[in-house]
Amino acid sequence: MDQIIVEAHGAKIPAIGFGTWPMKGDQCTSAVATALQSGYRHIDTAAFYGNETDVGAGLKASGRQRDSYFLTTKVWKDDIAPGQLERSAEASLKRLGVSAVDLLLIHWPNPDVATADCIKALCNAKRLGLARHVGVSNFTTRHLADALKAATEPLVCNQVEYHPHLDQAKLLAATRAAGMAFVSYCPLGRGDTGGVMDEPVIKDIATRLGKTSAQIVLRWHVQQLGVVAIPKSATPSRIASNLDIVSFSLAAPDMAAISALARPNGRVVNVAHAPTWD
Ligand code: NDP
Repeated sequence: MDQIIVEAHGAKIPAIGFGTWPMKGDQCTSAVATALQSGYRHIDTAAFYGNETDVGAGLKASGRQRDSYFLTTKVWKDDIAPGQLERSAEASLKRLGVSAVDLLLIHWPNPDVATADCIKALCNAKRLGLARHVGVSNFTTRHLADALKAATEPLVCNQVEYHPHLDQAKLLAATRAAGMAFVSYCPLGRGDTGGVMDEPVIKDIATRLGKTSAQIVLRWHVQQLGVVAIPKSATPSRIASNLDIVSFSLAAPDMAAISALARPNGRVVNVAHAPTWD
């Protein structure tokens, strides 16, 4: 299946990736193998998800060559101090059963660790060969500015919540200005539970174009410059259809109508350790 690729500082990131949280065990292994066999070339996990061993088993079970897919993992916020970060990355590689990941991210900023310090450790992990590229997640424009000052290696992405209920224009502009990819997590607004896909605007476009609501939302993501989306599904038919978003496009008025669904309380991930958002 054709793929859209987002390029950022030499990283070639398939614009649809496969999210693996909160899957674990056989469900996770089977979903990762199904995703790779269905044509996904980008898998997203994190040390914190507690599923790297299961993801690694899925990579192996898929039969895919290591160089045929782009693998991302993340270092948990409590482990991002210099030295700890590199050790966390090494442990992730062991669990995943790979010699390096394609992308290593700081999962969340931590107010107890200076951004400059954790970014230097992240860049060191790349120099040690643990990751081909490095980036950040849940960084605000303020964190991003500090990170860019401290980085000695290119930061290739900021992975943050983004879907039609959440306006991320300011952060998207800052991320693009740094030449970084903008990786949307919760790209479907968490599916049936979040309400994004129940929006009449999205349902109407889906009916008109003969697509699913999820395909419309995912196409809306990747049709924005530099945006990558990492939907999760444990359902084989959804895993396949979520990737099938290359053969059609959304007209400008439809893109605008979906963007207009943003609302002030649209954030899905509200955790105590979150920074003050833009
Ligand atoms: P998503 O927006 O991807 O929604 C996942 C939900 O949508 C699941 O319940 C899934 O159900 C459902 N779904 C998937 N496809 C369809 C479809 N075609 N039609 C209807 N429902 C569908 O939210 P996530 O929170 O899972 O985010 C995606 C990924 O982002 C995570 O898996 C993780 O890898 C990453 N993430 C990163 C964070 C970070 O801090 N960096 C935070 C949160 C997530 P089912 O599985 O039953 O099919």
